[in-house]
Amino acid sequence: MMAANRPPICDYEGSDYQVSFWEKSDRAYEDRVEAIALERLLPKAGKLLLELGAGAGRNTPRYLGFERIVLLDYSRTQLQLALERLGQNDRYLFVAADAYRLPFVPGLFDAATTIRVLHHMAEPQQILMQVRQVLQPEGTFILEYANKRNLKAILRYLVGRQSWNPFSLEPVEFAALNFDFHPKTVNDWLHEVGFTVERQLSVSHFRLGVLKRLVPLRLLVSMDSLAQLTGNWWQLSPSVFLRAKAVGKTPTAQPGTFFRCPACDYFPLRETSTGAECPACTRSWPLEDGIYDFRQSKGCL
Ligand SMILES: [Zn+2]
Repeated sequence: MMAANRPPICDYEGSDYQVSFWEKSDRAYEDRVEAIALERLLPKAGKLLLELGAGAGRNTPRYLGFERIVLLDYSRTQLQLALERLGQNDRYLFVAADAYRLPFVPGLFDAATTIRVLHHMAEPQQILMQVRQVLQPEGTFILEYANKRNLKAILRYLVGRQSWNPFSLEPVEFAALNFDFHPKTVNDWLHEVGFTVERQLSVSHFRLGVLKRLVPLRLLVSMDSLAQLTGNWWQLSPSVFLRAKAVGKTPTAQPGTFFRCPACDYFPLRETSTGAECPACTRSWPLEDGIYDFRQSKGCL
């Protein structure tokens, strides 16, 4: 039912994305500049952080100040890699779930991050709304998105080598389920769902093969680190990081409650050693090998 009218999902199930994209190819530059941006934006301390689209947990060790972290991804195999990397530990909770139907009670988290995720979302506003609902008032949201109004796209457009207009406000789907967004549009969406943007960093300015080959990594990273600081004034880099704060009143569930049923929205769920059960619709959501599974359909979407 739900699956019929839900947006399509970019599924990394069984994918070797972690190895092929981050470990084998030359992404040290992107990884280092992202680490710098995260360090600048993250609160120094916190209780419970939701990492939405955690993948294989590349960024998870960077959330140093948080007591507990929920790693959420649609792909169970990515979470298995994360679990192997981070180890079974009370500090981490692994949840396979649909980002359009987050299985948590309202107001559960004091912080959330969404890095390299919005890029794959056909309905990004819905994702931002989901994040807002599970955040406490005043909660911190760190978002990374791909910026269509980047210098390379502008130059290509001006010389006629790119048909889409980098200055127009609508998202561009440059490949199937790969979207770039206009900074103004993302900021408007955030405002609409109840966030105020506190700080922006423009990131990955020098993401060009020729520069990565010719300029020493440390120099390129230092240059980007400096250039990131202009992000509050203009955003011309392919990636933008921002920190937003949840504003306005929002319902907050009873302390001690955690999961919400993604099928019928009832909460709280009854937690057992083998998973979580919904008293309303009687569905049960299994906990197997350290990973909760809240996906309603496990096949290809
Ligand atoms: Zn239910």
